[in-house]
Parts: sequence; C-alpha cells; structure tokens
Amino acid sequence: MFDSTITIIGAGVIGLAIAAELSKFHENIFVLEKHSKFGQETSSRNSEVIHSGIYYPSNSLKAKLCVVGNRMLYNFCEENDINHSKCGKLVVATNKEEEAVLEKILNQSVLNGVSDGQLISQEEAYDLEPEIFCTKAIHFPSSGIIDTHGLMKKLETKAQINSVSFAYNSEIIKIEKIEGGYVITIKEDEDLFTYTTEYVINAAGLYADQIAILAGTYQPAYMIHYWKGEYFSVGNGKNKKINHLIYPVPQTNTVGLGVHATLDLNHGMKLGPDATYLSSHLLEYSVDKKKQMAFLEVARKYLPFLELDDLHPDQAGIRPKLQLPGDPVRDFIIKNEVEQGHPNFINLIGLESPGLTACLAIGKLVNSMLADNTTN
Ligand SMILES: Cc1cc2nc3c(=O)[nH]c(=O)nc-3n(C[C@H](O)[C@H](O)[C@H](O)COP(=O)(O)OP(=O)(O)OC[C@H]3O[C@@H](n4cnc5c(N)ncnc54)[C@H](O)[C@@H]3O)c2cc1C
Repeated sequence: MFDSTITIIGAGVIGLAIAAELSKFHENIFVLEKHSKFGQETSSRNSEVIHSGIYYPSNSLKAKLCVVGNRMLYNFCEENDINHSKCGKLVVATNKEEEAVLEKILNQSVLNGVSDGQLISQEEAYDLEPEIFCTKAIHFPSSGIIDTHGLMKKLETKAQINSVSFAYNSEIIKIEKIEGGYVITIKEDEDLFTYTTEYVINAAGLYADQIAILAGTYQPAYMIHYWKGEYFSVGNGKNKKINHLIYPVPQTNTVGLGVHATLDLNHGMKLGPDATYLSSHLLEYSVDKKKQMAFLEVARKYLPFLELDDLHPDQAGIRPKLQLPGDPVRDFIIKNEVEQGHPNFINLIGLESPGLTACLAIGKLVNSMLADNTTN
C-alpha cells in the first residue's frame, strides 16, 4: 500500500494543469512545490500569449499540443471566467525576402492544422493596424492573450476541490525506485520527510533534468540549457497604438520568434523576449538597460512610431531549452520511463513555449499515458 497514488513535482502551469486533469479520475494525488505558492518561476515570466501553433515542425508534440491546447484554453477561459482576449496576431513582412518567408509560415500553419491564417496585403494590414509598417502580413485571428495567474489559480482550485493535496515549501531532494513505485524524500525548511508513491510526474520546469537525475531516469538528451528572454515595456501612450500581437518574420538562425510586440489585458505593450544562452544555471532575471537601442532598432522596422524613451526595462524569463546555440530545434519530451526500468515515472522535459498554450492538452496526454499503463 502506497502513501500516495500520484506525485506531481512542480506547481507551475504544467503541474497544475496535470493535477486538475488527473484529479477527475484518480484519488490521493500530491503536488510538491519548493516555493511557498504556485507559479513562481517560468509560468509567471512569459508573454502570456495563447499561440495558434504555426511555426513548429509538423507532427511534433509542440505543434499538436499547441493547436489542440489553443482551443481547449479558450473554452476553459469561457467556462471558468478567466480573463483573456482573442486579439489575433499579425506576422509582418517588411521587404520582398520576408514576404517569401510568409508563404512558408502559412504553409506550415496549414500543415499543423491551423486553418484561420490569411495572407493579407499592406492595405488590409493597415485597415487592422494603421500605425504599423509592413509590405504584407498574415493574420491569425486565433492567437490571443490570457491572465496566466488567473488560469493557475483556477487550476489549483479545481484540483483542490477534487482533493489534491498541495505541499508548498517542499523541495524534492531524493527519489528511490522500489517494487511497484517510488520513495520520495522532501526537505521542508530543515526537516526531511519520506513517503511512498505509485506514480511520479516530473513537471519541474527548469529543474526537470535534475529531477530525472535524482530518479535515475536521466539521459544526455534530457540536459536542459537556459536561454534568457528579456522584455522592454512601451510607454508614453504608444502602448495604445496597436490592437493585435505583432510579430516579425522569424530569422532562420534565431531560437526565439524574434523581438515582437505583445499586449497584456490592461492594454500594456511589451517588446521581447530576446534569446540569450546562459552558460550558468543561476536564475538571474535582471533586464539589461543597455539593450534598449537594440530592441528599438528591431521593433522600429514594423512599429515606426517608437522612440528610445518609450522603452523601459521590464521583466525577464528563462526558457528550459533542450538545444544549445546552433543546434536544431528540439521537441518537448513527455515520456513514461518504462524502457529505463522506471514504469509510472513520467518525465516532462524541455517544456518551453508553447507550454502555457498547451498546458490543458498536456494534462490530457499525461492522463492517457497513465490510463494506457493501468490497462496494460
Ligand atoms: C520568456 C518566455 C516567454 C514565454 N512565452 C510564452 C507564451 O507566450 N505562450 C506560451 O504558450 N508559452 C510561453 N512560454 C513558455 C511557458 O511559460 C512555459 O512552457 C511554462 O510556463 C512551463 O511551465 P512549467 O510548469 O513546466 O514550469 P515552471 O513554471 O517553471 O514550474 C516548475 C515548478 O517546479 C518547481 N520545482 C522545480 N524543482 C523542484 C523540486 N526539486 N522540488 C519541488 N518543486 C520543484 C519549481 O519551483 C516551479 O514552480 C514562455 C517562456 C519564456 C521563458
């Protein structure tokens, strides 16, 4: 007999979405989180965009979970009164070469099952956004923004109503495999606690590879690399000049989507995030004021109304990427580690963007992986 059926490590948006979903079908679920409340790391340091799923390679988990997750998230917001806006997004070309890339983006979006993308002329784009500059654009009405904190709070509440136990200030420091399950050791302040669990779900974000090491489920392909993304907010009333998310055509050699303009639900505007590889694993969230000019130069290509003193250092987040500079794009890893001799241990590693958009779809996927296993 185990103390707990399922242990979920991490109360970011992924761990919370998994907890809310699994609690509909399973009892005796523990969520362990080292901070004093949910969402203190990457889930509170992102663009809060509900992506439509256009860029990711066909049939990748990122593409599939983003496209399905997008619809699920809008429905969830409607049903649960979570603040959001389906404001739409424009991907803008500013010259002939970029126009050619737009065609590729549109084709990829169709392959991924995104059916609402529309190639539009400069005039049509200016009807939507009179203050921008572009030569052509693609309009994706299904992109939007969400109150991520509201989403996480609702997921936590739903899980709690279904009797999930949340242990905050609880850091997992040891995981041992035993017959049919695992022994978990937690550090809470200076005290150590040990208990047994049948299933473990590793949703530890930036530390997911470290948890895999603790459990003996690590492989070299699981190594997480930190990529920082910094943002500048736009003030002086210029934040009111756009109504859609505005993205440049991504450059082929970059790991992010290029510095873009995102909106928040209070009609604030942010530029970012850029993408800087970090050689150390320190969580360092400062924003370098010296990047102000570089951000301005990139953004002015499509937001010509911007001036230097409109930009102010804002927030930063760190992406848990599986790729080093120059490496090809990697997919999410979501895997039951049966082959490594750790059945019922599910690793979720490299859950960078579009993890927020995909969170509810990921909850369903993890639930189906448990169901597969229980029927085997
Ligand atoms: C700059 C940036 C912009 C982004 N923009 C978007 C966007 O617009 N749209 C989108 O869909 N996605 C976006 N993302 C991605 C999205 O934010 C992530 O995919 C998502 O937040 C990941 O959630 P998580 O729960 O996996 O991780 P986290 O939020 O990091 O949660 C993991 C949790 O595990 C806990 N933990 C770790 N180790 C332990 C341990 N040993 N014991 C106990 N607890 C532990 C941590 O404390 C943490 O709370 C962005 C990411 C970044 C960095």
